Amino acid sequence: MPRIKCSVDHCIYQEGTECKASCIQVRPTVTDLIISASDDTACETFKPRNS
Ligand code: SF4
Repeated sequence: MPRIKCSVDHCIYQEGTECKASCIQVRPTVTDLIISASDDTACETFKPRNS
């Protein structure tokens, strides 16, 4: 898998500044599905460390 740098804290897949998941799913965060900025996307693979 290519290197993925991630600045989301407290994810079980994060090691330092990189994501170590075998794959990730990214989804839109807006309901009309028209994405115009990176803020309109989110990582669905995120899993909190303390769950
Ligand atoms: S799974 Fe998503 S949120 Fe978690 S480290 Fe990887 S890219 Fe970041």
